[in-house]
Amino acid sequence: MHSKVILVGAGPGDPGLLTEKGKKAIAQAEVVVYDRLVSPAILSLMPESAEQIDVGKEASHHKVPQHQINQILLEKAQAGKRVVRLKGGDPFLFGRGGEELELLSEAGIPFEVVPGVTSALSVPAYAGIPVTHRDFCSSLHIITGHAKAGAKLTIDFEALKRTGGTLVFLMGVTALPAICQGLLDAGMEAEMPAAVVERGTTPRQRKLISTLGALPQAAAETRIESPAIIVVGKVCTLSEKFDWFDALPLKGREIVVTRPKARMGALSEKLRALGAAVTEYPCIETVERAENPALDHAMDHLAQYRYLVFTSPAGPEIFMKRLLARGQDARALAGLKIAAIGPKTAHVLMRFGLKADLVPAVYDSDHLAKAMAEVAGPVLLCRASRGSDALPKIFSARGIPFDDIPCYDTRYETPDAAAILPLLARDTLVTFTSASTVEGFVKSLRDVDLSHVLGVCIGEKTAEKARGYGIAVRVAREATIESLINCIKEV
Ligand code: SAH
Repeated sequence: MHSKVILVGAGPGDPGLLTEKGKKAIAQAEVVVYDRLVSPAILSLMPESAEQIDVGKEASHHKVPQHQINQILLEKAQAGKRVVRLKGGDPFLFGRGGEELELLSEAGIPFEVVPGVTSALSVPAYAGIPVTHRDFCSSLHIITGHAKAGAKLTIDFEALKRTGGTLVFLMGVTALPAICQGLLDAGMEAEMPAAVVERGTTPRQRKLISTLGALPQAAAETRIESPAIIVVGKVCTLSEKFDWFDALPLKGREIVVTRPKARMGALSEKLRALGAAVTEYPCIETVERAENPALDHAMDHLAQYRYLVFTSPAGPEIFMKRLLARGQDARALAGLKIAAIGPKTAHVLMRFGLKADLVPAVYDSDHLAKAMAEVAGPVLLCRASRGSDALPKIFSARGIPFDDIPCYDTRYETPDAAAILPLLARDTLVTFTSASTVEGFVKSLRDVDLSHVLGVCIGEKTAEKARGYGIAVRVAREATIESLINCIKEV
């Protein structure tokens, strides 16, 4: 038995603001009990084997009541489970983390707390507002704007005004007019700078910089909704000067990434770092062939080949894994030259201590084939089962002997189409990193109107496929992720 409850702060929304310790706790969880404000990218870190309990659903305003959440935590822990209680921001700041621990501590259940990055500090930071600044204030006050059901706000506005510090109100959207009026009644000047920041730290962040007197009307006009925080104080005047987040090149841009799950991370992460709202929609999966007698045979006779050719990063990964599993290693390739379709494939080879001898100037199969027209065979081609015919054609035409061995199959995934339908109804960028991702994407969306989709494609082959389905396209200058991202920036 290793039952334990770990209270984890998930941060304000940007998945990069989850702590290392929090991430580890989620990865090891057997049960995760989570709230409404935890971002989907963080929820996707939950192990598939973990029981996932959503206690923040607000459909028809029936959230799971607090006493019941406490009970769930207790029961799961008593059943011997490793439980993570995942909460927005920091679990102890207006998070009822304390209440949840009481029952556990009475029952003698071991628990730990992993603090989180609170919205009270990070959301202003993403809006370019330093919560303190020596020229403006010497204290910071964090206040809840939530009144108990039916009751009036019980905030001591005079006391707050007297501090002269920055005021940060959480849960204050409904009470915004009452909060501003309370401060004005306490004698704070109507010109005092003030701000509201909605969905802070996420690609959908909106900020409103105003004054105490004008804020309620401005917020109503722009339909500010929860979650949002209110900041009152002179530090709000710095927001424009320090506006780094809204200035990110892809801020707020909706982008769908269709790569296989295993390769999703790098592209999504880079796009998110540029401010994009990324939806992961894996359309294909590459599956290694468990039984591969043809490859085994080739590996038994490596000395008979002159060239080894890989047309995707999956190629050398799968090839080397098998070679090592057979008890061989990189030395078995000592007499061979190696060709890689592009720098990423060459990079994977390098991880195994192998330097590609040939990388074409343009990273696609046509150019690889052209570059190989003069090489001496025999060639061992390790690639997907449904690869382009450019290479076999040129080898046949030139009389270069070759073995074309399928090392993996590309399978179409069935991603959750409902999750992206609303995106497809407005202008959305969809990234395609291979012709098969286009195929998988279209297959998953039968009868859906794709006229609003702009496909950003890694190369001409991929673009051709997308055009064939009536998708408007832009094509990256080079077939690399970096070039694809540059292409998105130029859209
Ligand atoms: N424990 C949380 C706060 C919980 S109270 C923390 O430390 O951040 C919930 C309130 O937090 C919301 O009503 C809102 O005022 C604020 N909040 C949380 N996430 C936010 C976000 N991404 N943007 C703006 N406000 C946020």
